Amino acid sequence: MQNYVYEFEDSLYLNLTNRCSNDCDFCIRNIKTGVSGHKLWLIEEPSAATVIAELDKMDLAPYKEVVFCGFGEPTCALSVIEEVGPYLKSRGARTRINTNGQSNLINEIENTAEIIAPYIDAVSVSLNAGSAEKYQEICHSEFGTEAFNAMLTFARQCVAAGINTTMSVVDCIGEEEIERCAELAKQTGAHFRVRKTIKESDRY
Ligand code: SF4
Repeated sequence: MQNYVYEFEDSLYLNLTNRCSNDCDFCIRNIKTGVSGHKLWLIEEPSAATVIAELDKMDLAPYKEVVFCGFGEPTCALSVIEEVGPYLKSRGARTRINTNGQSNLINEIENTAEIIAPYIDAVSVSLNAGSAEKYQEICHSEFGTEAFNAMLTFARQCVAAGINTTMSVVDCIGEEEIERCAELAKQTGAHFRVRKTIKESDRY
């Protein structure tokens, strides 16, 4: 069973890829095989047609949002998002991407936000640290310290494109670091949120 589409709380989630440009110390993939009973390691990535065929069978009205978020960085599958996003909008769904904010580097483009703005309502960017060095220390991006500034640029571009943008951190990074992150998020114009760290004892 390939879990491309799964329910979590009051929303529907799309698991398009297991690829990621980061290797975060706190990544859920290091300690779990899925989320809320759904196993999320993929044997192969779905095409847009496969995801749309699955969504075609579903009533989307009961879900608060449809979220591009699985066991990997969704924008590694940007070409799939570019087809599934407009389809979701045509079905009247509210859409969100949870991302590490490195799409411009991953996809070698200047402004991902301009591409996704017509069909993505909200973006949640994992900020995670208050400096490029600290970010690289815990997130281990394949792009090195360049990833941090690219992520901040992405967030600014999302705000400018009119996407409801939130930057988030996990609560285990300490009060001072959280304050630095809150200030950085403010500078981009994004909202700021502190997320609870997922522990091994939480249900998979
Ligand atoms: S960016 Fe997300 S998916 Fe990628 S390693 Fe970090 S926590 Fe995991």
